[in-house]
Amino acid sequence: MTGKKSITIFGATGSVGGSTLSLIREHPDSFTPHALTAHRDYQGLAKLALEFKPAHAVIADEAFYTPLSEALAGTGIRVAAGAQALIDIAAQKVDLIVAAIVGVAGLAPVWKAVEAGQTIALANKEALVSAGHLIMPAARKSGANLLPIDSEHNAIFQCLRHESHEHIERIILTASGGPFREMTLAEMQQVTIEQALQHPNWSMGPKITIDSATMMNKGLELIEAAWLFDEGAKKLDAIIHPQSTLHGLVGFKDGSWLAHLGIADMRVPISYALGWPERLAWQAQPLDFSSALTLDFAPVDETKFPCFQLAKQVMAGVPEQAIILNAANEVAVAKFLNGDIGFCDIAGHVRATLEAGDYGIIADSFEAILALDREIRQR
Ligand code: NAD
Ligand code: MG
Repeated sequence: MTGKKSITIFGATGSVGGSTLSLIREHPDSFTPHALTAHRDYQGLAKLALEFKPAHAVIADEAFYTPLSEALAGTGIRVAAGAQALIDIAAQKVDLIVAAIVGVAGLAPVWKAVEAGQTIALANKEALVSAGHLIMPAARKSGANLLPIDSEHNAIFQCLRHESHEHIERIILTASGGPFREMTLAEMQQVTIEQALQHPNWSMGPKITIDSATMMNKGLELIEAAWLFDEGAKKLDAIIHPQSTLHGLVGFKDGSWLAHLGIADMRVPISYALGWPERLAWQAQPLDFSSALTLDFAPVDETKFPCFQLAKQVMAGVPEQAIILNAANEVAVAKFLNGDIGFCDIAGHVRATLEAGDYGIIADSFEAILALDREIRQR
């Protein structure tokens, strides 16, 4: 890579944020952190700011402005707080924005970054699920680049790098199946929060870990893929691949298939986005072909994973449905993590919210999307 890239990381204190910063730590001559943000963890943010010395440190929750300012007093790092401060940072031109806030909370900065024509390494899938119908046209208009760092989408993005759209026949995302892949539905009724938080292959933040256990994650990813790769539901699918070695596949009209393989480590897709359009060398653990490598595949059992089924239905519907699905899921996952509902109630909650039907809001603007999202949460 030539020259230093300026970089803003939304959600710097999270799992994706941490993996991103670990790569930046290894490449001090390649990146200049411009801004780091967090939700409430002002101590975690202050620690990162002291290490990486960005120009700005932004805390979303204004209640933590004072302690963050005190922790960074005398460093020259500018401290800001609140939702508008996040949006203002997203508008400041940098070489790369990493969008790694979890949930629809990350939508406003993504939207601003897209409008500003930035290059965005996108982890925040909920932003695309809720607003893909506006984000994709806005990105085309502003010239913003969206570089997916969700591992499956990054895999497909790499497979499609030198291909034209008209040749694509199928796009397939792989799914590990999560911790409950081999359980019966009856067994799944009994699972605890701790069990659901134990993903067999990936180490991730709590919300996506629960989404992986319900397989809502794969459903959200199908919707994400539909927007990113401009493909209808018919060409997109997901398959179970318990080893998480192969991340995404593309089938072409001439019968060829391209697939992306790699270790199950988010630094692989993140490093691709950090280096793009080149590749960033780092000490990635190589795939070991010296002993037998097994790649198993199986269809997703949709009756066992109703969240996946609900998301597939929504993918074929209107954008408002995806906003409802996503908001209801965020609420249900938070309730599950809080011990208020059981694991299998998550799907029931999402289904009931979808079936409650018309919320009287057409999601034809960014503000309308947030209004619909708020409406679902309030109910
Ligand atoms: P996480 O919970 O570990 O981190 C979330 C980050 O967002 C934190 O820095 C937190 O401070 C910030 N945040 C949370 N709520 C916020 C709010 N209301 N306002 C502002 N900031 C807020 O989450 P994660 O696992 O890193 O996931 C981040 C995103 O990346 C999610 O959309 C997830 O689906 C996606 N993703 C994650 C992984 C992974 O390996 N963790 C893989 C693929 C995709
Ligand atoms: Mg993924």
